[in-house]
Amino acid sequence: MQIATIGRWGVSARVWPWQIFRRRFSRAATPPYLKAGLFNRFELFWRGRANDNIALVELLQENGTIKSDRIAHAMKQLDRGLFAPQGEIAYVDIPLPIGYNATISAPHMHAACLELLENHLEPGMHALDVGSGTGYLTAAFALMVGEQGYAVGVEHIPELVQQSIENVKRSKAAPLLESGHLSLHVADGRQGWPEQAPYDAIHVGAAASSVPQALVDQLKTGGRLVIPVGDIYQDLLVIDKQPDGSLQSHSATSVRSGTSYI
Ligand code: SAH
Repeated sequence: MQIATIGRWGVSARVWPWQIFRRRFSRAATPPYLKAGLFNRFELFWRGRANDNIALVELLQENGTIKSDRIAHAMKQLDRGLFAPQGEIAYVDIPLPIGYNATISAPHMHAACLELLENHLEPGMHALDVGSGTGYLTAAFALMVGEQGYAVGVEHIPELVQQSIENVKRSKAAPLLESGHLSLHVADGRQGWPEQAPYDAIHVGAAASSVPQALVDQLKTGGRLVIPVGDIYQDLLVIDKQPDGSLQSHSATSVRSGTSYI
């Protein structure tokens, strides 16, 4: 039998007696992300949760988001807990706030972008990550292109770049940062990063209302650019530069990239 209670703001709600018991006596404090109303427990369950990074990547393999073994290997090497806010929440398949109005993308988005770019992240290739945020995807690119290749991240918030460098230093991608084959820079991503151009792979992590010309110019012939384009809802556009220099594009999926726009 449900009973009525008076909530903190005088709002009555019908709850089960055991829920009152749990609220009063549960020792587990409500985590801040639940208090902030960011996600409810049902959403966490629905989105897929894991207790550690390996289990998270296996979940993405089981549900078909990750098909490639190379991508699974790279993501297993990069503990998302080193890049995201601390605690188990890092292993839930949801984007998480990282401050400065930015988020670390959901693991399924990281995986989907890596899948779209896989053939352009072979050892020795050059990759650019625009809006690199936590540095997670830049580090994944670096692990895939290896020590003969280059992975460059560009982010316009200096504090996030500093933090991303710290994140990478703690990760398995640290030696590539050390050797200069992974680098993270403060810059306006709409200008790309000409130093390591042309790129086999360019990923844009923030929504754009149109495709910046500098990014198209810095894309290698045969290269691929993945960019969310649109105002409120975006199409994740996949743009391939053909041998004759022309562009061919298709939409991979419809996405919502939070509050970040380039
Ligand atoms: N993929 C990243 C973060 C995505 S959030 C991760 O998972 O960690 C998008 C990021 O793009 C934000 O950090 C935001 O600050 C950055 N950004 C937005 N506009 C930008 C611009 N013009 N130049 C560089 N970075 C930009």
